[in-house]
Amino acid sequence: MSPRRTRRPPEPAPRPPGPERLESWPDGEWVIRPVPGAATAKTYRCPGCDQEIPPGMPHLVAWPSLDPGPAERRHWHRPCWQRRMQRRPGRRVGR
Ligand SMILES: [Zn+2]
Repeated sequence: MSPRRTRRPPEPAPRPPGPERLESWPDGEWVIRPVPGAATAKTYRCPGCDQEIPPGMPHLVAWPSLDPGPAERRHWHRPCWQRRMQRRPGRRVGR
């Protein structure tokens, strides 16, 4: 007789009530949090276009859902986030 119990996998943490959402991308799942312009008080640098995101500009914060360390958080312009998969390194977009 095997007393082995079926171990339940830990329940996924309930989604925070905030506006975060999960997006699936070819490089994994990312948590996206929109940041209204009024909530920003400092300048960030967008990794998509390497331009600054000035205070007051609505943008978004993205971090990998599997590795939600603060160091992994990146502030993006919204369009840059949407386009990031089209800007592959080494591939030149014509024009
Ligand atoms: Zn940008």
